Amino acid sequence: MPRRSALLALAVLAGMTLSGCYALDPEMRRVVAQRKAAERAAKEAPTKQAPSEPAMAVTILPQTVLPPPMPAPAGADAALDPAVAAVARHTLDSVAHDYVGLVLELGTHNKSDIDAYYGPKALMAAAVTDPRSLAMLGEAARQLSASLDDVAPHLTAAADQRRLRALKAMLLAAETRSEMLQGKRFAFADEAERLFGVRPTLEPLSAYDATLAAIAQLVPGDGELADRVDAYFDRFTIPAARLKPTFDAAIAQCRARTAAQVMMPEDESFDLQFVTGKSWSGYNFYMGGYRSIIQVNTDLPIRLARALDLGCHEGYPGHHLFNLQIEAKLVRDRNWIEYSVYPLYSPQSFLAEGSANYGIDLAFPGDERIAVERGTIMPLAGIEPPADERYWQLLDAIKALSGARLTIAQQYLDGAIDRPTAVALTQKYGLVSRPRAEQMTDFTEKYRSYVINYGLGEAMVRDYVERGAPSRDMMWRRFLGLLGEPTLPADLAAQ
Ligand SMILES: [Zn+2]
Repeated sequence: MPRRSALLALAVLAGMTLSGCYALDPEMRRVVAQRKAAERAAKEAPTKQAPSEPAMAVTILPQTVLPPPMPAPAGADAALDPAVAAVARHTLDSVAHDYVGLVLELGTHNKSDIDAYYGPKALMAAAVTDPRSLAMLGEAARQLSASLDDVAPHLTAAADQRRLRALKAMLLAAETRSEMLQGKRFAFADEAERLFGVRPTLEPLSAYDATLAAIAQLVPGDGELADRVDAYFDRFTIPAARLKPTFDAAIAQCRARTAAQVMMPEDESFDLQFVTGKSWSGYNFYMGGYRSIIQVNTDLPIRLARALDLGCHEGYPGHHLFNLQIEAKLVRDRNWIEYSVYPLYSPQSFLAEGSANYGIDLAFPGDERIAVERGTIMPLAGIEPPADERYWQLLDAIKALSGARLTIAQQYLDGAIDRPTAVALTQKYGLVSRPRAEQMTDFTEKYRSYVINYGLGEAMVRDYVERGAPSRDMMWRRFLGLLGEPTLPADLAAQ
């Protein structure tokens, strides 16, 4: 079996679980509402404004004054001149600072673009007071990126170079979002590459037919395979009254296994909430100060597998740990301000979702997941543990279908198929009920090429962590090393 397709694992049954939050700032919400009203009014006005500019006064925020452009390097001596290197590093800090303001201003145009922010309050206040137009923000991102190009030859420290590369990728993502929010549409693969730093190569759906045939053997019977699989999993539904104790226990299991491998801040914590009316199935809102709010969407019945999936993906060693590591190592230790804001559409999300999905297998290798679900989670959920292991065999087999989710998203977003076809294909290749396929298609419509971050992110994180068959301790060290450094998809692929 091709290793790649086997590794393209994605929690299809779980739907999509997003990584973070926007800053829950009432002022930002108010400004967004005001802006939208102004834009609506402008559209409806009989005399048209210039089409790409919102009808409101635009003031350029006071920007950090950048040093003058660096002279072209005159050879090795110039690159090693400590004074020149110091100016280059100052420019890097300045660009990082301005990048934060730029992303926060983007958030005033579309609040869900900001997944988390816990940087200086003054930057948020400035952003919501006088946000630039989307066109101006796109241009600002290009200029900041050019400033980085100017100083790149003068940054000799590996940490500075790695920081600069990541910042350039973030600026390209911000520029791309500013264009998308103005209505520009990119082809699926182009969009993914510009936002997340990786170009997905997708299998045709026919590549998954053999897996479907193998799954059909596990769930024999008449009727559509998706209906048979859905009916089989129905008996593993957690009753509403048991959700909280079941999830609490699952999260405790995930936390204990993670805490055995990594020292976490003593005051880290999160609140677990059950919500409805969302296009995602779970969400980690990182609040800063090592705190998260983890939400579980209960629109559809919650299946047992969600308990450990969510505990690991949203909690430990997934999003909550990822954000703890970023705050502790990049924001607090290094004072790299660009990491105090987390734009949803950025290469950070590739690593966030990839590491969160892979974290489940890292925390529960081999048969350990089966043992914990049989011994602890199922009894708490009031579910009779099955006599055989078909349940887990089926879950594993379905994971091998996860790449199909991306192919369907690409076809739908690129206009090759319509929504009813996308929903039908999601049922067929995701082996989910129609309501779940509808929810997954809603997610694709809203978050677009973000879907690549799950299956492809997991595959690339797994390949990186498990390269050369290391010990389990080494796998944890590699995994944690990724979370505490600016990491791009290209770093995962590098040998
Ligand atoms: Zn997630």
